[in-house]
Amino acid sequence: MTDEQYIDITIEISKNAKYPYGAIVVKDGEIIGRSDDATFMETSMYSHAELEAIESASKNKSLYGDLKGATMYVSCEPCMMCMGAILYEQFDKLVYAATLQDSNDNYCPEMITNIDELAKYSKNKIEIVKELHRDKAISVIKERGVSNEIRGGNLLMKDNLSMDSKCFYFGKAVDYSKYRPDYPIELFELLKKEYNLNENQTVAELGAGTGKFSKIISNYVKKVYAIEPNKDMLNQGIKYCDNTNVEYVLGSAENTNLKDHSIDIVFAVQSFHWFNKENTKNEVRRILRENGLFAIVWNDWEDKNNEFSQVYFKYICDWKIKVTGQKYQHKNVEERKNFFKNQSYHTHSVVHSRQYNFEDLLGLTKSLSYVPKESEAYYEEFINGVKGIFDKYSKNGYVTFDFHAEMFTGEI
Ligand SMILES: [Zn+2]
Repeated sequence: MTDEQYIDITIEISKNAKYPYGAIVVKDGEIIGRSDDATFMETSMYSHAELEAIESASKNKSLYGDLKGATMYVSCEPCMMCMGAILYEQFDKLVYAATLQDSNDNYCPEMITNIDELAKYSKNKIEIVKELHRDKAISVIKERGVSNEIRGGNLLMKDNLSMDSKCFYFGKAVDYSKYRPDYPIELFELLKKEYNLNENQTVAELGAGTGKFSKIISNYVKKVYAIEPNKDMLNQGIKYCDNTNVEYVLGSAENTNLKDHSIDIVFAVQSFHWFNKENTKNEVRRILRENGLFAIVWNDWEDKNNEFSQVYFKYICDWKIKVTGQKYQHKNVEERKNFFKNQSYHTHSVVHSRQYNFEDLLGLTKSLSYVPKESEAYYEEFINGVKGIFDKYSKNGYVTFDFHAEMFTGEI
């Protein structure tokens, strides 16, 4: 078999793997190890595809040096840990498809390393074949990145970030995009079916924040203008939406800097309550094409039939009052209705769930702007409470949140 054929096997494995990566070990024309080897369970967060394939290959062999003469095929460039293992095992050859940068851009944050530099530490010379069928591997990573984003709910954290934008710092941004639940795929399917959302359209998002919604919808349309008045957030968004058809524009809902009648759908996602309604209405009328659509989208907690959500939400709200003196406010629906032409609009609601292990729940909780920070008093007390709720309601190490995504659509 050729390198191309072997690398295709790793890409096939990546499609069904827990994380979108696949690896095989080939020696003397025989596949002797695979990352999807069913006899090995994922044992730790460090069980990367390359390490799983090495484990699998070592089943009948003693490790260290026994893989001399073998080739590692992997759907994505090895990280420094895996490259270390590959060098320790004295592989003769490494073939990879997507780059670490591709993985970083489309799936999860990576530490980009120069593997040629690492290879210099090796005792034996290793041949490295780079970016073989890279595009194929990227499409798997990308698809998974998008579906991860679409899965799950949302916690109104964008609002909190807007309020907190002066205190917007890097650690916060990472928590925010990683743990924040997102918009359900049904919402986009509905837009396709009922409103003919399609790849010829240009859409705009007002108050786009760090670009979560813009990035998802960019997969469905020709072009997305993400309008954002806060420079910190705009810069985060530009980075987050790198390599997509999302273009960030410094502007506000009231003054978007977009051309007259150039937009098919204008979205206000988790941001509507910030706008000056009259000025925004005039601006949206100006930029929308004839018969263009305006859509207000927001996510909220869904408490019905979910005791865990109820208890956790109450706990967070109590702490919000304690920390900020403010109550959690549900949005003013009347204001939304009045925005549409003749108060005529359609409503859609999609309930969606997401599971969290304790680590993720903690990440999610910490990303709320109004809870105690690690450096503050009460932090431990606060976290212990979260742990108590988790322990009470978790099943097999997970709790389930329910959310609903709501959408108001109409002409204005
Ligand atoms: Zn790795």
